[in-house]
Amino acid sequence: MKSSSKCPICNGEKEFSTTTFTVDLGTNLIVVRNTPATVCSVCGEEWIDDTVAEQLEEIVNEAKAKNRMVEVIDFNLESTAYNLHSSSLKLQEELHFDEK
Ligand SMILES: [Zn+2]
Repeated sequence: MKSSSKCPICNGEKEFSTTTFTVDLGTNLIVVRNTPATVCSVCGEEWIDDTVAEQLEEIVNEAKAKNRMVEVIDFNLESTAYNLHSSSLKLQEELHFDEK
């Protein structure tokens, strides 16, 4: 058994949870809600998995490209299902424009 379920700071119990990840880029603020994280139940310290961190990086890069002052993203929605949904919407728009 690994002892990784203990918080290295306060020795408290670590729990799997979700957190709100915020990136302040100065000109714009990116907020990613429902980000999977391990959270200490005692001191509230948060750890994010490497795989989650990679996805966060992609989400942040996409959000940067939109260049909005505040971009609020739900981590759960940044899945394949969401991307399929938005690409089918785009296709519908293109079809609509073709009819004109
Ligand atoms: Zn702790």
